[in-house]
Amino acid sequence: MTSADGGVDVDELTVRFGDVEALTDVSLSIDDGEFFTLVGPSGCGKTTLLRTVAGLEAPTAGRVRIDGRDATDEPPEERGVGVVFQNYALFPHMTARENVAYGLQFHDLPEPDDQRVTELLDLVDLTSVADREPDQLSGGQKQRIALARALAPKPDVLLLDEPLSALDASLRKRLRVQIRSIQRDLDITTVYVTHDQAEALAISDRVAVVRDGRIEQVGTPEGVYREPATRFVAEFVGDNNVFDGVVTGTGDRISVDGTATLPLPAETDLSTGASVTVSVRPEAISVQDRDGAQADGHGSTVDERGPGAAVTRSATVETVEYLGDAYRVHCRWDDRPITVKTDSASPPEGAVSLGFAPDAIHVLSNGDRPAAT
Ligand code: ATP
Repeated sequence: MTSADGGVDVDELTVRFGDVEALTDVSLSIDDGEFFTLVGPSGCGKTTLLRTVAGLEAPTAGRVRIDGRDATDEPPEERGVGVVFQNYALFPHMTARENVAYGLQFHDLPEPDDQRVTELLDLVDLTSVADREPDQLSGGQKQRIALARALAPKPDVLLLDEPLSALDASLRKRLRVQIRSIQRDLDITTVYVTHDQAEALAISDRVAVVRDGRIEQVGTPEGVYREPATRFVAEFVGDNNVFDGVVTGTGDRISVDGTATLPLPAETDLSTGASVTVSVRPEAISVQDRDGAQADGHGSTVDERGPGAAVTRSATVETVEYLGDAYRVHCRWDDRPITVKTDSASPPEGAVSLGFAPDAIHVLSNGDRPAAT
């Protein structure tokens, strides 16, 4: 499958560095105007994928298509891509304005268009510091100048490699909103690399979760969060409670670690004896003091009876983290840890009942395929 014009396709891409296979048979189709994020742990191959699209690495096998044409053998400057790296890569002895103008140098001879440079500085909201050199700019300002420089020649595709990772947490959050807003205004196809799954969920139209040089799952942020396709995705994306289980023929039908049980979703093709991974998100679990007082702030009662009724399990609170708008409560359910997120007014403590709807339980067969509907 290939994307429409303006998009990026990689087809069966493999990239080797000596003995290291950084990417193995990766295929992706990124749509025109899409904000697409590659997310995964350090060393999984995200940067290699981005650099291969940029033309800074040559694939061992496979093709790269940009804007509908085969760009695999094109040099970087002919690909119509703008790249922003983590470390800004600004010229230290040029002003902000000159750095942005440099982005036009090869495209706008003989002299870069001053009007266009001013427009770009305005786009990233930095006209006031146009005459400063990089060492007189903050990290966030430097990164916005790098962004303006990358956008200067009006590339078809913007490639961003961990552009925020040198910045502090609150600046990261502000700048990612700004990047997203500029991307939307320009309607520019964007490939963004991050190891930060929360950032990936916050900013993207779609994400690809990368692991060990392969794509584990591609989907919308909501899709990847709600329906992880593999155990790795269930554990990597967002807080989660992930357990090993076996489908049994009786009762609740999933035996967890051989010592506890959970219900198996009604519509499933899993048969008795199947080995499964079971996950339940912390925010899907309510917590109630064992003496009956509500601790979940929702005023719901936990009902153990009848088909489809809430699942309840006894647990003990071990530690509580205050998050500002909620508590993250680390409990012990028999011998295993289980985490709950609650917006109760005060932190739960001691013996508690945990409750969740049966459809909050996500089940994967251990063949790493989605197994339950
Ligand atoms: P990080 O988040 O740490 O930047 P990443 O997911 O971007 O990691 P890559 O930088 O793409 O990962 O690296 C993927 C694998 O390829 C790693 O094992 C890395 O050591 C290896 N690698 C990357 N570039 C080279 C190179 N030029 N020579 C040899 N090995 C390389």
